[in-house]
Amino acid sequence: MSKRDYYEVLGVEKGASKDEIKKAYRKLSKKYHPDINKEADAADKFKEIAEAYEVLTDDTKRAQYDRFGHAGANQQGFGGSGDFSDFGFGGFEDIFDTFFGGGGGRRRRDPNAPRQGADLQYTMTITFEEAAFGKETDIEIPREEECDTCHGSGAKAGTKPETCSHCHGTGQMSVEQNTPFGRIVNRRVCSYCNGTGKFIKDKCATCSGAGKVKKRKKIHVKIPAGVDDGQQLRVTGQGEPGVNGGPPGDLYIVFHVKPHEFFERDGDDIYCEMPLTYVQAALGDEIEVPTLHGKVKLKIPSGTQTGTKFRLRGKGVPNVRGYGQGDQHIRIRVITPTNLTEKQKQLLRDFAEISGQVPDEQHENFFSKVKRAFTGD
Ligand SMILES: [Zn+2]
Ligand SMILES: [Zn+2]
Repeated sequence: MSKRDYYEVLGVEKGASKDEIKKAYRKLSKKYHPDINKEADAADKFKEIAEAYEVLTDDTKRAQYDRFGHAGANQQGFGGSGDFSDFGFGGFEDIFDTFFGGGGGRRRRDPNAPRQGADLQYTMTITFEEAAFGKETDIEIPREEECDTCHGSGAKAGTKPETCSHCHGTGQMSVEQNTPFGRIVNRRVCSYCNGTGKFIKDKCATCSGAGKVKKRKKIHVKIPAGVDDGQQLRVTGQGEPGVNGGPPGDLYIVFHVKPHEFFERDGDDIYCEMPLTYVQAALGDEIEVPTLHGKVKLKIPSGTQTGTKFRLRGKGVPNVRGYGQGDQHIRIRVITPTNLTEKQKQLLRDFAEISGQVPDEQHENFFSKVKRAFTGD
């Protein structure tokens, strides 16, 4: 938490006398005593007041504070309420801002300036065919919308948010510090208004002062033909609403394409495997191959082996950017027959006999190659 100026905490002038400080302390400590004040931040404020009083009523500590600010006081070990955080991440960013200048604008941004709403992401699961051919559909996404009751102000009807008195509407608190790195201005988000620069006294009952409510919004989506798993579609302006009249964010729809039981996809091309019987492969045949675009006839030449590939041009997926259409690739797998009847077995034995029992030359070459590979001859 950022430290406020001790004089500011007690509401006294820089040159205030001890009596004035004591008087201010008595008044404030009564007001914020946690036993009396039941507001959520009363305890923190009470601690802050006590710390300011401790420093400003001690001549040495006060002199050091006047010269070096909180850093000076901290060196003496005051206010041991986690002051290391003052020199944590925030502090370092501030050092860079101080050294390199440029970043200052980023941190000093006006909380009342229009800001773009947050982007949203939605994962949409679609079928293989929907991805290939596209589809129009409605989706419902939960998103924050401007509250209808208060029109985004967060204040109860008839009232308006007030400017935060702690940061004067800037949303930032500044604390000057002297450190071994030099003089540093620490700017932090105002803890009283959470950086909004506004204070809402009477909160809107519908949105509890947030100005926004979660709603389910129906959005019409055109899935482009050829979209692939993991690709995303940006729907401009369908993210969360902007802040202070800024533009809304965008909606990103990420597609998850369900696997197909028969086809596989790589880019715009489709791959599949076609089983052939032993006889079809040996004698040749004309078969029907399923494609995304309906059945297609394919001529299988005699003597086709497992692993033989065929290509059907243009039977793949349309390119999502409109650059033509992919192909379908077919890999043949010859199925060895099982559960043969006695008659089938006999025919195969006859076949083997006619073909000659001795393995043909090709086989012999193959087996001797395998042997060489293992023995290294
Ligand atoms: Zn509201
Ligand atoms: Zn503030």
